[in-house]
Amino acid sequence: MALRFRRPRGTEDILPERAGHWQFLEARIRNVMSRFGYREVRTPILEEAELFVRSVGEDTDIVSKEMYTFQDRGGRWMALKPEGTAPVVRAYLEHGFHRQGGLVKLYYLSPIFRYEKPQAGRYRQSHQFGAEAIGSGEPALDVEVIDLAMSIYREVGLSNFALLLNSVGCHKCRPAYREALLRFARAGQDQLCEDCRRRMEVNPLRILDCKEKGCRRTMVKAPVFSDYLCPDCRAHFEEVQGSLRDLGIPYRVEPRLVRGLDYYTRTAFEVVHGGLGAQNAIGGGGRYDGLVEELGGPSTPALGFAGGMERTLMALEAEGRLPERDEQVEAFVAYTDDPGKEVFPKVLSQLRRAGVGADGAYTVQSLKAQLRQANRKGARYVVILGGEELRRGKVVVRDMRRSEQEEVPLEEVLGFMSNKDRSVWGPQKYKGGR
Ligand SMILES: [Zn+2]
Ligand SMILES: [Zn+2]
Repeated sequence: MALRFRRPRGTEDILPERAGHWQFLEARIRNVMSRFGYREVRTPILEEAELFVRSVGEDTDIVSKEMYTFQDRGGRWMALKPEGTAPVVRAYLEHGFHRQGGLVKLYYLSPIFRYEKPQAGRYRQSHQFGAEAIGSGEPALDVEVIDLAMSIYREVGLSNFALLLNSVGCHKCRPAYREALLRFARAGQDQLCEDCRRRMEVNPLRILDCKEKGCRRTMVKAPVFSDYLCPDCRAHFEEVQGSLRDLGIPYRVEPRLVRGLDYYTRTAFEVVHGGLGAQNAIGGGGRYDGLVEELGGPSTPALGFAGGMERTLMALEAEGRLPERDEQVEAFVAYTDDPGKEVFPKVLSQLRRAGVGADGAYTVQSLKAQLRQANRKGARYVVILGGEELRRGKVVVRDMRRSEQEEVPLEEVLGFMSNKDRSVWGPQKYKGGR
């Protein structure tokens, strides 16, 4: 059979087995986020394209090459969101969070869309988790966000990851660095890719972000920001590093780690994983003291970070730390003949109403085939409905783990939830529940 429809290129169907991993990851992320005092915000998949042109920048690959844009029926240019920060800042302003004063801490889990060349680990729809802390310029907040990111990676089960750190200065000290970088880039421009040659006059910092081999090789010797930081930026950077050491968070200063846009300021960081090869970043973030103002709000210091769900899962896989799948049902109800079939829906329904995860085959099959299904679903118990036992008011309950079975009065099976203590159903799960 030729398939009539396939999923769009660069997208994934997350099938039930995998979805368990996603749920695990999402649950851990939510847990850490709320423990750090971040609250969830959910913004639309769609935004005005202009939002990202203004925030991410027109000359970035994300906006100029990778963004999914289209005109809607009203003639407005829309974009599927290519990243998570701009929509959160847009929502922050639109709902007047800035008028409440003080620090606002938000997190999100969201799909993002980028029209990338499909290749291993790159998707056109991928998923990010991220946090934004808006309203303070204190170095302590930089450290909180870094601590948050590191805690998430640690608590999902990773250990083979490292923190790279840099400062990208401020509007006062950046021009001198930019000038030095531009001089360096001009001198070596034969080695640079076409994109970099084109954008170097507009924004030479972006060359440091370029993934082309020639550009990377050339820029290894480029001037470093640390030689150009103003006294305030230097003090900020030193305070961040001091606190990281106090908290016992190891880091490495990576002098050519930049974020290319003007509203990025001071702290920039990246988390890399040792098991992912060349594309080893699993998350990154930093200060963006200029962004709120860039999007029409008052000047407001802020920072954030974002991590990739797919990459984090790849990292977990590389470390062999993906969780085993959970049991999906506790009980499987099987029937072998017509009398069994007759009571089957009622037994199943009553088990579920009593709080027991239960399922059945819904077709007459051999008991052996049904036991196989029960096994696949991870059922601990199989309730076997057979005419002969039912005539005596009984059913067979089989404990799959112990490979034992016994006859139990039908009434007792159905009433077991009101009598958990002598329940045959997974005592470890229900013990002490009352
Ligand atoms: Zn500065
Ligand atoms: Zn380049």
